[in-house]
Amino acid sequence: MKLVFATNNQHKLSEVQQILGEHFEIVGLKDIGCSEDIPETADTLEGNALQKARYVKEHYGLDCFADDTGLEVTALGGAPGVHTARYAELFGAGRTHDSNANMNLLLQQLQNKSDRHARFRTVIALIYKGEEHLFEGIVEGEILTEHHGHEGFGYDPVFQPKGHTCSFAEMPSTDKNAISHRGRATKKLAEFLKCEK
Ligand code: IMP
Repeated sequence: MKLVFATNNQHKLSEVQQILGEHFEIVGLKDIGCSEDIPETADTLEGNALQKARYVKEHYGLDCFADDTGLEVTALGGAPGVHTARYAELFGAGRTHDSNANMNLLLQQLQNKSDRHARFRTVIALIYKGEEHLFEGIVEGEILTEHHGHEGFGYDPVFQPKGHTCSFAEMPSTDKNAISHRGRATKKLAEFLKCEK
């Protein structure tokens, strides 16, 4: 069965394909000829994931799923949340759009805070046979006081998952994927689809 994943991120496409297995052929936006920037203007992860999936359904008539991820830090009232990708660009002094600027802003915001609890949360929105479904994956952890490790991407060097003594950026990708927010949400999607096929 062919299903569109509303992303151009090759890494995400292969990760999801691996979890969903050979019964599903996952194709990306490029494969369906979609080169426009799909709007992500909602104020929740659920809203953004649904907005992207609905866009593909409306414009291309295809069943589709889309994801959105946020880092939710307790001491910051759940921020950066829906603004995780553009945290420093939106709220930093330098208006910089890169991972180092994002992490540095986060560390600065948490200076002198004793509660360093945080979680990554991924929401996947699926439109399938005319119905909408949401799947959530969460990994709990804490924000370290400095960068550790060089693997992964985004906030990996400052996020230490609960029950581990190293950051995401110090873990082999297979170990990270086994416990990650995105991995967990994708497994829920896979369980649903396997029952449907
Ligand atoms: P997206 O919705 O998957 O594009 O994720 C939004 C932002 O969250 C990314 O730009 C990253 O900054 C951050 N992010 C998502 N997943 C991860 C992860 O596994 N590790 C570190 N940062 C992540």
